[in-house]
Amino acid sequence: MNFKSDNVTGAAPAILAALGRANAGTLPSYGEDEITRRVETRLGEIFETEVAAFPVATGSAANSLALAELAPPWGAIYCHPVSHIITDECGAPEFFTAGAKLVPVNGPDGKFTAAALKAAIMGAGVVHHVQPAAVSISQVTEAGTIYSIDDIKAISAVARDAGLGVHMDGARFANALVALGCRPADMTWRAGVDVLSFGATKNGALAAEAVVFFDRAKAGNFTYRRKRGGHLFSKMRFLSAQLDAYLADDLWLANARHANRMASILAEGLARVPGATMTHPAQANEVFPCLPEPVITGLEAAGFQFYRWSGRTVRLVTAFDTKEADARALVAKATELARAAAAD
Ligand SMILES: *Cc1c(COP(=O)(O)O)cnc(C)c1O
Repeated sequence: MNFKSDNVTGAAPAILAALGRANAGTLPSYGEDEITRRVETRLGEIFETEVAAFPVATGSAANSLALAELAPPWGAIYCHPVSHIITDECGAPEFFTAGAKLVPVNGPDGKFTAAALKAAIMGAGVVHHVQPAAVSISQVTEAGTIYSIDDIKAISAVARDAGLGVHMDGARFANALVALGCRPADMTWRAGVDVLSFGATKNGALAAEAVVFFDRAKAGNFTYRRKRGGHLFSKMRFLSAQLDAYLADDLWLANARHANRMASILAEGLARVPGATMTHPAQANEVFPCLPEPVITGLEAAGFQFYRWSGRTVRLVTAFDTKEADARALVAKATELARAAAAD
């Protein structure tokens, strides 16, 4: 009954089993092994283009190292004010870029528009200002919402006109993909994305993400950047084996579909709770209901765990292994608490 995040879970059994298999025998180190090569090939098939893919162990590393490839120390990186890179990475993007500035571009529901981005871009060629270098969008956003393909295309078009690289923080990439029901290429490079932080940890891996460049030429010095950043694992096979199993048999898609379905049970159920409203539309595997205070405290007392987001808005996150009975129990308890509070 823990809805705090999708990283409070363990790992998917198929991924654990793959680690056992990858454990046997000797293999070349530092990513020269066949499992790592297979992951890159498989990602190329999935994205329908040749990619350069670099496994790393955390999303913060993926984001920070990817952004360092796009932005110089004097660069500006445009992102939403609640984005993970600006609020939750302890300055790692600034550190790995050697000082690039994260410039907030605001908008409702964790998203900004192409027009807002355009209005925020300034200072090109002015020696006193940071130089426009990159834009970063999160898909799923930190508000549990999703950019449409047209949104991404419009943002990328503004970025291209201004000479910005386009980064996508895909910590919940699979959840967004199955929600949109589109092809991975359509949500990324065909819509103008240059580099993706492809998340796996939250959707069933132990600790594995990949930085994916859709134009191998743009991967430039990333191989050195990753090593210097401490994310070139000598036993890379263990990161790659997680990604390999994650992509095999469409496990990543099945996991995300399950998580999203559990979130829709919460969202639809909680929307009917007397006194409840939705602070953000629930579009993937995160739900942000605003609930009467007695409902919040009552749910906590009943053992449901979640974050209080702001005011009476709480955040509920579902995962690949969320039990349907738990989601339904939360809705039932919230309904019962709201009725009791109304009767008082
Ligand atoms: C979880 C998350 C990450 C990755 O975080 P790490 O703790 O560094 O693995 C990145 N972006 C978003 C939007 C996330 O939710």
